Amino acid sequence: MFLKPLRQLRQTLSFRLTLWYSAIFVISSLVLFVTAYLFLANSLRQKDQEAILGKLKDYQTQYQAGGIIALRNEIKFQKYGGKRQEYFVRLAGPHNRTLFLSLPDQWADFDLAPLDGTPPSGQIWMHLRARHDENVLEIVSLRLADGFILQVGKDTESREDFLETFRGIFVGVMLPVILLGFLGGQFLASRALRPIRQLIRTVRTITETGDVEARMPATPSGDELGELARLFNRMLEKIEALIKGMKGTLDNVAHDLRTPITRMRGTAEMALQSPEDPAACREALGDCLEESERILTMLNTLMDIAEAETGTLPLKKARVNLAGLLEDVLDLYRYVAEEKRITVINDYPMELWVAADENRLRQALANLLDNALKYTPAGGRVEVKAREADREAIVAFQDTGVGISPEDLPRIWDRLYRGDKSRSQRGLGLGLSLVKAIIEAHGGRVLVTSTPGAGSIFEIALPR
Ligand code: ADP
Repeated sequence: MFLKPLRQLRQTLSFRLTLWYSAIFVISSLVLFVTAYLFLANSLRQKDQEAILGKLKDYQTQYQAGGIIALRNEIKFQKYGGKRQEYFVRLAGPHNRTLFLSLPDQWADFDLAPLDGTPPSGQIWMHLRARHDENVLEIVSLRLADGFILQVGKDTESREDFLETFRGIFVGVMLPVILLGFLGGQFLASRALRPIRQLIRTVRTITETGDVEARMPATPSGDELGELARLFNRMLEKIEALIKGMKGTLDNVAHDLRTPITRMRGTAEMALQSPEDPAACREALGDCLEESERILTMLNTLMDIAEAETGTLPLKKARVNLAGLLEDVLDLYRYVAEEKRITVINDYPMELWVAADENRLRQALANLLDNALKYTPAGGRVEVKAREADREAIVAFQDTGVGISPEDLPRIWDRLYRGDKSRSQRGLGLGLSLVKAIIEAHGGRVLVTSTPGAGSIFEIALPR
């Protein structure tokens, strides 16, 4: 019954982080304590052994000065001096037979039999274990110059007592340390994961409610998670703009398709009502063909724009002379310009080479010239210029047309957007979107400046 929530808890990042934090904390404390303990135990042992060796030297001097009598007197003197006897002393003959033994009562429990074993040739350490407790007697044996053996020792009880107290403190401290490690780990994990929880909350809001306006709260921290929050918000802004753009385009497409399709239906219905008039039927069919042509152009252009914007439009790049392309385009629109009595002035060098898809670039240039002529009243002037600047080729179309209002200016590049004043002119509102998409697909830029009532300048800059 409790297993499932426990398993879920174990899978959470915060629980695992908490465990890691506390494990590292506890292991570090453990390592610190064990190192301190080993160091302490070692230095205590060294101190004890130094003291035993010091005593051995003292007794050796006594023995060498006055023999066994002097040694016995020295020990007696210490005993009667009221001092607690700390050292075990044994003097044995060359064949290890005990001649003198000073064994305080507290060590009666030790089994001294191992001392009767093989006599040492130099100085060696021996350890005798007590029969009923953990106490150990540390003894150093030395063969003296006359072949006798002198042994001095001391028990490890006081040292062990001290280390036991230390171990007790360690156990007493370790429990709060584990608790502190766990609580500290939980606090740190919860703090570190706060942005992640906010991210999850935001994503859940978006997926559950579809509200793309949800954002992560701004964090002033400059760490990786703060950067993630900022990038995530920026991504959401882009997605929101894209969704709005797509929705707008879809609305516009639906709206722009409805008009010609309704017209086609009306024309077809009228033709069906007068089947006896073949001329009217033929005219209706012609109108339907024209409308369907318009719809097809619109859909194809929309597809081209989408492909160019997503980078999937195939571009057959080659070295292209801009002057040649402009010549072609001007030829194409010469008749339109003449009909509107618009003076077209051209000003470009004979050779200006760029790497581009010739057909796509011609299409973009034609759209710009078409607009310039379309939005310039009869008798006006259009200038077509090209130049090289800063490793870029710049082509400009300047007209003396109606111009664009500051409100319209940022929107003219949007798909299907048409200025209010342009409704009287033919067009789909896709020309400039296609120009922008083609030029940007070539790595170039588009620019526009316009004065309402005075004219506009459209410029494209292509990398050379
Ligand atoms: P369309 O010309 O089919 O309406 P475009 O995408 O080519 O669509 O242009 C979008 C809008 O930009 C036009 O409706 C018009 O309002 C404005 N525009 C474009 N070129 C010019 C120009 N040379 N002079 C004035 N307005 C222009």
